[in-house]
Amino acid sequence: MGSLFLICHYFYQAPKYLFWLGLGYIVPSFSLAAQSFMSNSELALSAPLLGGMYLFGAWASAYAMALRKKGHAHSYWCLGLIAIALLLLSYFSYVDNQLWIRMLILNSTIATVESLVLFSIFKNYQNIDIFNKIVDFSYFFIVIYTFTRSLIIYLFLSDIDADMLVTSVWWLIMLAASIFLSMWFAIVLLGTLVRDIIHKLNDERQKDPLTNLLNRRGFYEKAKSVLSYTSQDTHFLLMCDIDHFKQINDQYGHLIGDSILQQVGEIIRENVRGQDLVGRFGGEEFILLLKVKDQYHAYAIAERIRIAIETKRLSVSKISVTASFGLAQIVEQDFIRAIGVADQLLYSAKQSGRNCIGLDCTQMISTALN
Ligand code: GH3
Ligand code: MG
Ligand code: MG
Repeated sequence: MGSLFLICHYFYQAPKYLFWLGLGYIVPSFSLAAQSFMSNSELALSAPLLGGMYLFGAWASAYAMALRKKGHAHSYWCLGLIAIALLLLSYFSYVDNQLWIRMLILNSTIATVESLVLFSIFKNYQNIDIFNKIVDFSYFFIVIYTFTRSLIIYLFLSDIDADMLVTSVWWLIMLAASIFLSMWFAIVLLGTLVRDIIHKLNDERQKDPLTNLLNRRGFYEKAKSVLSYTSQDTHFLLMCDIDHFKQINDQYGHLIGDSILQQVGEIIRENVRGQDLVGRFGGEEFILLLKVKDQYHAYAIAERIRIAIETKRLSVSKISVTASFGLAQIVEQDFIRAIGVADQLLYSAKQSGRNCIGLDCTQMISTALN
């Protein structure tokens, strides 16, 4: 599992905390594997080294959690605790060979090192989804378990020697619980990670990187779902095209052109409500889905955007631009047809001299008559 985390980190550009978490799994596993091959006397001799590997693993996992939460693992405190633990481990290996005291020192230090990051994890705990909550609480549970393990060693395994240890039920339960908890934690963490990646990819699939608005695909997908669950409401489609944009690119360059596109996108966003959809339809064209009472309200929004674009001086070069619009009602949820109508009305706005809004007058008259 640790290797899986490292692979995710190196090959799939997964977050950096996976690297440390991977080490948090791998290094103690080597220690555990080495232990299995050792005789009791070899175990006592190498206890500080093997213990050091476990302690490093605990710190690496805590550090990974801190990175994940943009918090603190209190690494200097950890280093101090680990140094003291290593000194004590050496004493109870070489001077006074006491297996159970070594286990007690190791477990309680691991638990303390792991617990130092808990404050960062549970600070700012609002707005966290259920998956991330499960990860955080699983970690919390592991820390509590590690403290409990120290207590069990103190209460039930004191004075035990290595031969008796392997037959102790407490010891076997603790081993099984450790393996179960580490696997559980790796699985929920990977699950959450995969879910986060899918969310991010979905978001990027629907976003235009330049303006951060919806791209054409995102707009279509969101518009379809909005129209399907608010089918009773009146919706309008507004197309917006910046006037003579090619000249701006030619005169000031594409970078200035790009920053103008970004600013026009912001102006549009600022002039609609959160529930309205705004997308970049292509080049210098924007598209909006407006939920409004009638064409007058839709027109008022379009006019507000038109004036906002016209009045604002854009980019470092303080350039003024204008835009033309086409406004069409979405009839019977047929929004592809409305795009066609809005596009034609936009074309007629261009023909009428630009910086204006193309409207379907027959619709306006029928609304007025009603
Ligand atoms: P009109 O008033 O008739 O709309 O004229 P226009 O010049 O705006 O229209 P035209 O379709 O001739 O030119 C659109 C220009 O938009 C051409 C293209 O270089 C520019 N453009 C499209 N996408 C981008 C982009 O992402 N960045 C920049 N800087 N320019 C873009
Ligand atoms: Mg255009
Ligand atoms: Mg244009």
